[in-house]
Amino acid sequence: MPKSLLDLPVPAPSFWVKREWDRADIVVIGAGLVGLLTSIRLKEKFPRRSVWVLDQKSHFFAASWRNAGFACYGSAGELLDEAKRSSLDSAYRLYERRFRGLHALRQEFGDAALGFESSGGWEMFPTQEEAHKVVDQLESLNQDLHAIAGQFPFQPKAAKSLGMNFADTAIFAAQEGAIQTHLMMRSLRQKALSMGVELYEGVHVHALEAEGIYWRLNLALGWDIKAKSVFLCSNAYSSWLQDSLDVQAARGQVLVTSPIPDLPFRGIFHADEGYLYWRSLGTRLLIGGGRNQDFSGEHTFESQTSAPIQAHLMRMLREHIVPGKEFEIESQWAGIMAMAESREPIVKTIAPGLLAGVRMGGMGVALGADVAVQLAGLLEP
Ligand SMILES: Cc1cc2nc3c(=O)[nH]c(=O)nc-3n(C[C@H](O)[C@H](O)[C@H](O)COP(=O)(O)OP(=O)(O)OC[C@H]3O[C@@H](n4cnc5c(N)ncnc54)[C@H](O)[C@@H]3O)c2cc1C
Repeated sequence: MPKSLLDLPVPAPSFWVKREWDRADIVVIGAGLVGLLTSIRLKEKFPRRSVWVLDQKSHFFAASWRNAGFACYGSAGELLDEAKRSSLDSAYRLYERRFRGLHALRQEFGDAALGFESSGGWEMFPTQEEAHKVVDQLESLNQDLHAIAGQFPFQPKAAKSLGMNFADTAIFAAQEGAIQTHLMMRSLRQKALSMGVELYEGVHVHALEAEGIYWRLNLALGWDIKAKSVFLCSNAYSSWLQDSLDVQAARGQVLVTSPIPDLPFRGIFHADEGYLYWRSLGTRLLIGGGRNQDFSGEHTFESQTSAPIQAHLMRMLREHIVPGKEFEIESQWAGIMAMAESREPIVKTIAPGLLAGVRMGGMGVALGADVAVQLAGLLEP
């Protein structure tokens, strides 16, 4: 006697399943925020075509359900780091896409439906010297970004009253904020369903094959379906379906504390060129990041937490963020992001009828809506 349903062999599809599931006009692989937003844009553009979103697992495994909820565009330090890695132009281009994406998301769904809190974002530094390396470049950054942000986005600000153990000078970005991740995902899902998008979970696409004007999707369930157009919105896992895509898995880790009653600050915070971030969640704190402590170890598809990174996050909390405060850990989790040397997302047609919108890095919340518009725009009527 098998111990659970999962131990039973997968049955053959019935005649009815085959009828219903034979072919779709458009299949989106991945029910994360990029897949859902893309399905919404596609249904708007092609209301008569069937649009299916398939996901291999319950969508709670998607990075889109496992993130920290920062609605941010990139701190000044991170933009300067990006400029060093690629170019100032590419750093500004990314900033603009994130800015446009978040604006579009807020316009479309409204702040209440996203749980958006306009708290502003702080960038913290270990020493005054480190702070001034960035502060000294704010004037030109602000001038260059004014046209995108509609204001000078970065202001130096005294940070002493926050009670943290960082340099007294910080940088404040008034337009950043935070969302409640579950509210955003609920809103995206409800809108997609209300427009007639069909959402199927537990459907792992194993392989893709071109067949005339169709793409044949080989499902782990043991049978195939066909679609005229296939959109890969499958994050880091996309390289398993299309190895030409330059996406690498990068694990992100997070922990949430118990309530800290006299928490002296609210808002979102970044340090270490964006590799460390924390935010208030009511009187709890969420802290995440630390990937730069062990790049090679965090280059993995395994979404379990690891002791050294969690210990680093705890150390940062105890020694720098809320020194002397009492708290317990309430939650710890990890999720998988898609990264590469370049921080630009991939939005492209791979072959006729096969398109990809992947590699949101650590800022998919802001980027996703912009990517979805561009991606849906690539499909010819
Ligand atoms: C710990 C952590 C913290 C983060 N914090 C933030 C933050 O504060 N702000 C921010 O903007 N971003 C943050 N991010 C990044 C953000 O979550 C991602 O950029 C974004 O969610 C990516 O969305 P996506 O739709 O591309 O991928 P996902 O949300 O991962 O969705 C991809 C989906 O594709 C499915 N899939 C993959 N392959 C297949 C297949 N073969 N068949 C069927 N289904 C498949 C997967 O099951 C998955 O559900 C964080 C990420 C992590 C992990």
